[in-house]
Amino acid sequence: MTQFVDLHLHSTCSDGADAPAEVVAHAARNGLAAIALTDHDTTEGLAEAAEAAREMGIEFLNGVEVSTLYGHHSIHILGYGIEPGCPELEAILHKLRDGRERRTEKIVEKLQERGLPITMDEILALTDGDAPGRLHIARVLHDNGACKTVQEAFDKWLKFGKSCFVPIPKVSCERAVEAIHAANGLAFIAHPGLGNATRKLLPHLLASPFDGIEVIHSKHSQADTVEFKVLAQEQGLMISGGSDCHGGANGPRLMGGMKIPYAIYEAITEALAAKRS
Ligand code: MN
Ligand code: MN
Ligand code: MN
Repeated sequence: MTQFVDLHLHSTCSDGADAPAEVVAHAARNGLAAIALTDHDTTEGLAEAAEAAREMGIEFLNGVEVSTLYGHHSIHILGYGIEPGCPELEAILHKLRDGRERRTEKIVEKLQERGLPITMDEILALTDGDAPGRLHIARVLHDNGACKTVQEAFDKWLKFGKSCFVPIPKVSCERAVEAIHAANGLAFIAHPGLGNATRKLLPHLLASPFDGIEVIHSKHSQADTVEFKVLAQEQGLMISGGSDCHGGANGPRLMGGMKIPYAIYEAITEALAAKRS
């Protein structure tokens, strides 16, 4: 019987809808043999997910999705098999989370200076413990009648180049790859077909010592998948795949629908084992 895996999943520890143990339970219901939890910039959910995976008989790989910048382009990097608590990795993850929180405060100050109806308390009431971000800000502005749609808040004030834009904390791709390696993990370029930046920058990104490319992703076209698979082979890199499911009613990015073969997971765990021996 062919077994399937999903190596890109989010929980409530970042912007997912389900708690880590619920993500695992969902994977079990979908009949997946192995998963990785890859929350944005945090390793917080890994212990809970690993424990749940043990109980439910699913193989589990520690993961993280690091938000890096190449110039002002946002590039996501997946770390697999990372050991949580590695000081070098936790330092950049802390910088990203903490910086994002302070960024939100700065944006709110700018909006208030312009007389717009928004307070930090209103944002925190929406975040349910997550790091507050621009989407929360836009929702408060919308709820308070400052704009007709959430998108309008971005277009009028929050986007790059607009009056209340504040840059996000910067962690370079090289530094993220180094930190993932310091944590004994493997670094993969996430969803290169998503948006234009990663695809265009691939030749530059590949100068960093990546271990692999996320070839299979719910937002990749069939042509993308072929293109990135060929690239990975040419570069001698491993491939990974995942739905990038955020839980809840998240449209096409649903867990279990992607039929990612177990061999992909196996190759990654073998590489991790070889690295540690
Ligand atoms: Mn996300
Ligand atoms: Mn991503
Ligand atoms: Mn993701």
